[in-house]
Amino acid sequence: MNAPLQTSDSSSAEPLNLLIAAPRGFCAGVDRAIEIVEKALERYGAPVYVRHEIVHNKYVVEGLKAKGAIFVKELDEVPTDAPVVFSAHGVPKAVPAEAERRNMVYVDATCPLVSKVHRQAERQIEKGRHIIFVGHAGHPEVIGTMGQVDQGQMTLVETVEDVAKLDFATEEPLAFLTQTTLSVDDTAEVIAALKARFPHIRGPKAEDICYATSNRQAAVKELAEDCDLLLVVGAPNSSNSLRLVEVAERLGTPGKLIQRATEIDPAWLEGVTTIGLTAGASAPEILVREVVDALAKLRPIRERTIKTTEERMVFKLPRQLTE
Ligand code: SF4
Repeated sequence: MNAPLQTSDSSSAEPLNLLIAAPRGFCAGVDRAIEIVEKALERYGAPVYVRHEIVHNKYVVEGLKAKGAIFVKELDEVPTDAPVVFSAHGVPKAVPAEAERRNMVYVDATCPLVSKVHRQAERQIEKGRHIIFVGHAGHPEVIGTMGQVDQGQMTLVETVEDVAKLDFATEEPLAFLTQTTLSVDDTAEVIAALKARFPHIRGPKAEDICYATSNRQAAVKELAEDCDLLLVVGAPNSSNSLRLVEVAERLGTPGKLIQRATEIDPAWLEGVTTIGLTAGASAPEILVREVVDALAKLRPIRERTIKTTEERMVFKLPRQLTE
């Protein structure tokens, strides 16, 4: 376990350069999902049930619980007369179908960029192609996307080695799709391997990795080489946060994933002159500021934002919450 963060007189300590990545933190899909739960609480009153963590962040989940949201794993834990929200990661088709069968009020907070992949999957199946899906086994988004098609119509691959093990004839009609929160570089390698093995494979015109995931990775690439250490605020089950740590480490900069400032071990700062800071797409800015304040208690900091792009993406709320 890490040593608890000590409050000390930082004024005499060596200054610490702090490079903060921008963009970082909440994406448009996470903003929308949280607002959907809040609006559903206003419209239907508490409790509102939420199937799965609405986004992968404990602070956000606890905040919504305090307002009256109840988080469950499966739909059968929700009383039929209570409203339920489906998480930003998306759900298999069987879930809304079951909610309809039970005449339940449900609101789908699936990120529109995940829904786009769901529609692409349907189209590829209509065209008679088997889908190779690039993603991480067990992630809710992967379960949701694989659940858009019948069993046996989609095969999951995680790595280039998995591609080598695929047992399809070269001429078989195939298409590939990807999870939205993958490593841009790893995915490019897996897609290149797929194209090399199956030259006729079809894929989306632009990759399915979302703008928020690629922008946050690009921002880390911009500052990682100038840092001795990168801190990523995010949850251990947040795919895009884990990828940010990997991006830094691939550039030779050690990365640490932390959920809260209290997890910072002061020993990490020994010999560190410049530290980088970013946050995954489900981590709120308040937790980033908490980290900045904690660092400032350990060393005098010189804070600088390294901005690689401006994000203006906003997604509309479902009509049932705005009419
Ligand atoms: Fe949507 Fe990307 Fe955010 Fe996931 S990380 S909710 S796909 S915008």
